[in-house]
Amino acid sequence: QPVILGPNEHHIDPKLLSSNAVRVTQTLQDAGFKAFVVGGAVRDLLLGIKPKDFDVATNATPEEVKRLFRRAFIIGRRFQIVHVMFGQDIIEVTTFRGTSSENAPKDEHGRVLRDNTFGEQHEDAVRRDFTINAMYYDPAAQTVLDYHGGIEDIRNRTLRMIGVPEARYREDPVRLLRVVRFAAKLNFTIDPATQAPIAVMAPLVNNVPAARVFDEMLKLLLSGHALACLQQLRKEGLHHGLLPLLDVVLEQPLGEKFVTLALNSTDERVREGKPVSPGFLFAALLWHQVLEKWNAYKAAGEYPIPALHLAADDVLNTQTEKLALQRKIASDMRDIWAMQPRFERRSGKSPYKMLEHLRMRAGYDFLLLRCASGEIDAEIGEWWTEFINADGPGREALLTRKP
Ligand code: ATP
Ligand code: MG
Repeated sequence: QPVILGPNEHHIDPKLLSSNAVRVTQTLQDAGFKAFVVGGAVRDLLLGIKPKDFDVATNATPEEVKRLFRRAFIIGRRFQIVHVMFGQDIIEVTTFRGTSSENAPKDEHGRVLRDNTFGEQHEDAVRRDFTINAMYYDPAAQTVLDYHGGIEDIRNRTLRMIGVPEARYREDPVRLLRVVRFAAKLNFTIDPATQAPIAVMAPLVNNVPAARVFDEMLKLLLSGHALACLQQLRKEGLHHGLLPLLDVVLEQPLGEKFVTLALNSTDERVREGKPVSPGFLFAALLWHQVLEKWNAYKAAGEYPIPALHLAADDVLNTQTEKLALQRKIASDMRDIWAMQPRFERRSGKSPYKMLEHLRMRAGYDFLLLRCASGEIDAEIGEWWTEFINADGPGREALLTRKP
């Protein structure tokens, strides 16, 4: 039986709720179903943070949900869920899941492959990951239903796995990344029992399909707390193999400075609500790997530009296997890297052509990071800043200035 808390106990500010989420729960309840806001949104509401997306849980089946809304689509990835759309806004509606993991098909390491049975609300709560992610909010009654002591853990700022942590990591090793992301993002302490198995179980992440690891890594990197997350991954021994050689990169003094600066500026942009390009981010994370290979190819006698492309190929090929980098992201990364030697030409028509480049802004930001990290002379970045901001005659003067 859940603990039920009223507004005077949970203190959720109704203004932080999305009106679309309330519409969805109301429509489902009017049709005779149970419906609650669930998961990360409830956790954020209890912490007084405005949730960035809302999930709804219900006892209606996906078909029954779909019938109640004009624009609703059944999405069938790992689980069947319904996307209810209001303009740009999407509310994810999931049917309560059962706890079938004993009979569910698993891989040889114990990872659950499919687990698609419906169940009761208390079973749905049990199969969620952390106690703070397993609470249900009814906007009409303004009550919070807490099955696993989530409220207490919110108060104590503790991340606690539901059930036996080791078994839960084994079922789904992505939870190893999730615990790190939430701890860093929310600044919560990981409960000792939840913490203890992490280092031992870390290699299990390697058996998870690359696309799922990539989704989780992207969430982590775009959380606004990427730097804290990566530091925590490292502390938990989870960085090995996630971004191959990211560990090596972080251990090279220049690489570490560069990655730190890149993540800091990304975190700042995310927190200011500005867009961040995954291509730029991954280009930065892997730059020192590219640099190393670039130098090796040059030392072997390649010309600089072809050498850079060969280095980019090597790095992208390794990473694509591991992380399922989408093609668009990989091509953005290559563009940003390929622009770098072109910034060195500071005479003739070349700099004007750079100004016209579709990714000039990203390439230039990347150049500034290289300067700030001490990889190249700060003077080159300053020259480009002046060139971008100068008028016609000013630019001509810069082109003839001897560096
Ligand atoms: P965020 O604020 O980053 O979106 P979230 O908690 O909403 O955090 P989601 O990935 O959106 O995270 O998942 C929604 C909910 O689904 C979680 O709160 C949790 O209850 C459940 N969940 C998600 N992934 C898992 C998992 N791997 N194992 C168990 N439960 C999960
Ligand atoms: Mg969410």
